[in-house]
Amino acid sequence: MNLMMPLLRRSVSSLLMVAAISPFTACAQTPAAPVATKKPVVVVVATGGTIAGAGASSANSATYQAAKVPVDKLIAGLPELADVAEVRGQQAFQIASESFTNEKLVALGKQVSALVKDPSVNGVVITHGTDTLEETSFFLNLVIRSDKPIVVVGSMRPGTALSADGALNLYDAVSLAASPSARGKGVLVMMNDDILSGRDVAKRVNIKTNAFGSQWGPLGMMVERRAYWFRAPVKRQTTKSEFDIDTITTLPEVAIVYGSGNMGTLGVEAATKAGVKAIVHAGTGNGSVPDYGVEGLKAARAAGIQIIRSSRIADGFVLRNSEQPDDKYDWVVAHDLNPQKAKILAALALTKATSSADLQRMFWEY
Ligand code: ASP
Repeated sequence: MNLMMPLLRRSVSSLLMVAAISPFTACAQTPAAPVATKKPVVVVVATGGTIAGAGASSANSATYQAAKVPVDKLIAGLPELADVAEVRGQQAFQIASESFTNEKLVALGKQVSALVKDPSVNGVVITHGTDTLEETSFFLNLVIRSDKPIVVVGSMRPGTALSADGALNLYDAVSLAASPSARGKGVLVMMNDDILSGRDVAKRVNIKTNAFGSQWGPLGMMVERRAYWFRAPVKRQTTKSEFDIDTITTLPEVAIVYGSGNMGTLGVEAATKAGVKAIVHAGTGNGSVPDYGVEGLKAARAAGIQIIRSSRIADGFVLRNSEQPDDKYDWVVAHDLNPQKAKILAALALTKATSSADLQRMFWEY
């Protein structure tokens, strides 16, 4: 063994020399290696969630309290971030994401908008609970008029758990927000190595670390600080959006009514009585409405409420004038947006006091 060591060392050093002078080394590294000049500035806006959670013991991967660890501690707990960017923290909220409200969404949007307008800021990361991360990422994707990288990140296990996923997710998110290659791709979600579009990402598994996905697949992957891209979003977003958080103060109320066998009429009746501005009907299959439910929805429409047909099925998309005569009833279809994303777009669309035709246009375009 001892005799072999000098040999091994020599062959390793000659390999390194070959690598240093080889004309192939530069082009073998297609995604540009991080350049060590002035570090990009990334602001981490913390909202709570499991990524800031803590459990009683390392064996508690699913039983813990969300929203416990403040942003400064999250950042300080990950010294590797200093290699990637100059990281600053802001504590927006400290809540579990199921407690997000429209007021909080609007406030967060304004905070992110102010940050991306700051010329010294290169990118923004939002730490977030995973339960409604898909709503917030879609909302920000629609209302922030900037092409700077904005990355939403969470974790499925608290930092105190064995095999906690938050540290790598946060490291990846900051690396992605610091990467010029993430510019202009809309609001991104960084989870479990995958880079996903905030538009169509959804929580699809509620207990495992591969919780997030999109029926259209991830946009790319993060590996050791580098973004590897494979596709780009085509829908309108951020700089190409007609919505602007700087002009929005409140969002109108939109209700989701969930479809099932024997769903009854109570949900639609209650939403109509409550005076919501739109009902997202999370129908069965292709956004189907039961025969006994049609009259209630027609009555709601006649009362000025927009009706948006979505589906309780995770994948696929609702076809217009299939299952129900949308033209005749003046209803809208949600395209491929799941009910909770359709609710976000409907609320924003209604801030512009649009017709159902305009609403449908938005559902095709965003
Ligand atoms: N209920 C938590 C939340 O959404 C779950 C999580 O963050 O994973 O805040």
